[in-house]
Amino acid sequence: MIKTRFAPSPTGVLHVGGARTALFCWLLSRKTGGKFVLRIEDTDLERSTPESIQAILDGMAWLGLDYDEGPFYQTERFDRYREVIDTLLDQGHAYYCECSRERLDALRAEQMAAKQKPRYDGRCRELGLSPPAGEAMAVRFRNPRDGEVSFADHVKGVVRVSNAELDDLVIARSDGSPTYNLSVVVDDMDMAITHVLRGDDHVNNTPRQINILKALGAPLPEYAHVPMILGNDGKRLSKRHGAVGVMHYRDQGYLPEAMLNYLVRLGWSHGDQEIFGRDEMIELFSLDGLNASAASFDTDKLNWMNQQYLMHAPLARVVDLVRERLQVLGIDYADDFDFDAVVEVYRQRATTINQLVDSIRYCFEEFAGYDEKAARKALGADAVESLERLHAAFTALDHWERETLHEAIDGVTRDLGVGMGKVGQPLRVAVTGGGFSPPIDQTVALLGRERTLARIERAIAFIGAEKP
Ligand code: GLU
Repeated sequence: MIKTRFAPSPTGVLHVGGARTALFCWLLSRKTGGKFVLRIEDTDLERSTPESIQAILDGMAWLGLDYDEGPFYQTERFDRYREVIDTLLDQGHAYYCECSRERLDALRAEQMAAKQKPRYDGRCRELGLSPPAGEAMAVRFRNPRDGEVSFADHVKGVVRVSNAELDDLVIARSDGSPTYNLSVVVDDMDMAITHVLRGDDHVNNTPRQINILKALGAPLPEYAHVPMILGNDGKRLSKRHGAVGVMHYRDQGYLPEAMLNYLVRLGWSHGDQEIFGRDEMIELFSLDGLNASAASFDTDKLNWMNQQYLMHAPLARVVDLVRERLQVLGIDYADDFDFDAVVEVYRQRATTINQLVDSIRYCFEEFAGYDEKAARKALGADAVESLERLHAAFTALDHWERETLHEAIDGVTRDLGVGMGKVGQPLRVAVTGGGFSPPIDQTVALLGRERTLARIERAIAFIGAEKP
């Protein structure tokens, strides 16, 4: 059974790169009926925060990346890491090292000056040191000196590294705490991880981790190191590019399914298909489809993707998101407000839920001003008469319904002997502030009597002030 893991260090928000790694791990496990593990690598006590852990959990929940095991926390597994370090020591795969920071710094400086790759010189490798009773001492892994390590990476192809290139890395610090490479190896082994998918910034750690796994007699997982994500300037995506956590996109009104679809295409492809629903993604995903070259983050494409989802998602889903957004903004709406009608029309024109909500705020509260272009076209001096007649006709209505409103508007058009546009468009701009809305009788029905009449009066006053 395939088992993958997502192993973030909780030192910030869940950013795009992390979310993409999580998605690939999740897809591989879902595709194969395997398991997906979430492991929080919180051993860096200074940089790990509870807020960041929460941000990771929230981001995954928003994207619907559910896990089968975990979250495991590395800080809860220190005893286990110590146990493995002791085993490695007992079996001669590791040794105590007494080299001071000063010695190691001096060694490094010397090697750099001689244009050599900085590496530990193995001073303590054969000294058979042990710490004084009750004290901790750093421990190094006794890396094999001969031969090479190789692995067939699903993205990079075969990677070979000569053991002579690898020095004896520290697996326990001088305070006894385990290092990243040790804890990752112990966890991948204990959690029976079969496939390690992660960013290619870790590819240099892999030969070291393989050597430790071999020393422990553990089965080796398969690896896929995915290329980094670039910003629009070809440099690694970072905060400088405005890159932010995935939850930022939720707050901006992106749909999680659009985000997921965008992320999957950022480093994976299936022909030139762009749109993948969740199930389809699972069905079609394979490690072979992972791209070997770095992908660039493209906000325009994300926007396009979101628009596609906004247009084609079930209407009820979009309505729910619109309601949520209204609540966030503290905008009240009547329980019987006909969201379906309004959302169906406006979603064709919006890129995000937030934009959509902005364009329908006129239904719930006064708008600040008229869309300039729309007002210039429709709210000229000649509109006053039709607006006044509409006001009178609407005031006289007993029932505020789409049908009766339709007749009233028709009546005004007939009386004035003009086309529908001459009446409908000034009314539309008067009541919505813009030049676009659902059919005008429907719009006015939605708005209700009080709002409509007040807005017609406002428009008449506006025209009077503009064109005295
Ligand atoms: N905790 C590491 C990181 O966030 C990932 C380790 C791994 O995937 O092996 O970069």
